[in-house]
Amino acid sequence: KLPSHIRNEPIKNFGVTDVKDWDLLRASLMKFNNSALQIPLVINGERIYSDSKLLAQTNPADHQKVLANVSQASESDVERAIKATQDSKRKWFELPLHERASVFLKAADLITTKYRYDMLASCMLGQGKSVYQAEIDCVAELADFFRYNAVYAQQLYAQQPTESIPGVWNRAEYRPLEGFVYAVSPFNFTAIAANLVGAPALMGNTVLWKPSHYAALSNYLLYTVLEEAGLPHGVVNFVPGDPVMVTKKALNNRNFAALHYTGSTAVFKQLYGTIQNNLAQGVYRDYPRVVGETGGKNFHLVHPSADMPNAVFNTIRGAFEYQGQKCSATSRLYLPESKATEFLTDMCGILAAKDSKCTPTNTAASALSGGDLHGFVGPVIHETSFNKLKNAIEEAKKDPELQIVYGGAYDSSKGWFVEPTVVKCSNPHHKFMKQEFFGPLLAVCEYPDAKFPEICDIIDTTTEYGLTGSVFARDREAVRLASEKLRFAAGNFYINDKCTGAVVAQQWFGGARMSGTNDKAGSGNVLSRFVSVRNIKENF
Ligand code: GLU
Repeated sequence: KLPSHIRNEPIKNFGVTDVKDWDLLRASLMKFNNSALQIPLVINGERIYSDSKLLAQTNPADHQKVLANVSQASESDVERAIKATQDSKRKWFELPLHERASVFLKAADLITTKYRYDMLASCMLGQGKSVYQAEIDCVAELADFFRYNAVYAQQLYAQQPTESIPGVWNRAEYRPLEGFVYAVSPFNFTAIAANLVGAPALMGNTVLWKPSHYAALSNYLLYTVLEEAGLPHGVVNFVPGDPVMVTKKALNNRNFAALHYTGSTAVFKQLYGTIQNNLAQGVYRDYPRVVGETGGKNFHLVHPSADMPNAVFNTIRGAFEYQGQKCSATSRLYLPESKATEFLTDMCGILAAKDSKCTPTNTAASALSGGDLHGFVGPVIHETSFNKLKNAIEEAKKDPELQIVYGGAYDSSKGWFVEPTVVKCSNPHHKFMKQEFFGPLLAVCEYPDAKFPEICDIIDTTTEYGLTGSVFARDREAVRLASEKLRFAAGNFYINDKCTGAVVAQQWFGGARMSGTNDKAGSGNVLSRFVSVRNIKENF
């Protein structure tokens, strides 16, 4: 039996009076800010420093500042890592579940105690998070994944054939997949990286892990915590490197058994295609499991009966927290004509008061200089993202169907800063209402109050995605109608709340359509994708 006291990790406040927390955090920020750490590959427990092939991870709020120099895998490194997954496999999966689970339970405890401030600092500096956004990600959600997965694994293993007639004993054995799992993790959540690697490993699999370069610092720290918690060598192999090369090596290997992916829709489609193609060519021994969570164009739909201040507040949070860089972020908003002016005026007023102006400072930087850590706006992750958003803003200035009602500034002189920007679209089918920008850009469209059912149909059909969405209404008939009409438009559907911030074990996370395979992170479903059951019938 696993510990029964599991509950969601409480979020630390970092209020003005939490002096000790601030001091500890500041010490960690100082440490990483000045270290330019050398990050190795880790293959079968061995640290490999590729001195001639290093790529700098810089602070997105201060892009001249090198935080880490990240070793880059060569082709033979990837081959050795794949071999390590095979060599370490048997010993690992033959351990009973509670032994494997203990590694992740201990890692969760280390993260929430000894390494809490280091984890926060590494995400704040490397991934441009505020202290709150870092807390909910690399401490709370990360620990929750490790702890609840252990509970779900136990529940899964307990499921057995329901009937055994006299003289016969039927049972199910939960084997891992026979090959290795290739985990490809994103920059935006360190917790997601933990789950992409941790969920298959918990089920007895061994993993080739390609972290995002833009999260290398926090991801390497996570790896070292897993090691300290007792993860045997070779079970997880940490292999940063050129995504195209590492992926090619992984997917072209006969032992490739599963892809566990979070990232862009375009890349996921490509990988899916490569896997199908390889399968047809006879490359694999098994049908690979493909588990992926990708993009979204997530909606907030406001009904005239909604509690408007609540809808305004949640829209600001959904669209602009962590600069809109969550797959779940609100990126299209539908307002009833009768309330639109009031709604937008209130929203712009609050945004202006939050000091969301585009300034070259971020929360980690201001903490280091003794300032406030609760700043609302941080940088976007890198130059490519900055340029994409800048181009969209410039397009919005010229397009007669678009009107910028808030923001529109950007500044890359020090960091990759883009002001929260609200763009009104006169055409609900405009590409701004369809395309994911993955940044602080919210597209808004008004609809005639009487056309609520019609706007539901438009929301349902204008994008290829199906990740998250919210309806704001007091009128139950409106809630029912939206809920029915938008059944397939969101895998996570919210009523009177923002469409971000799913909590492990409370809101299972994931969407269908082109947003992913909807295997629900933070639930037992996803674990079942990483086992291959053997049924055993025994006659007495
Ligand atoms: N689970 C996160 C949320 O609900 C988003 C995850 C993601 O960005 O992929 O906000």
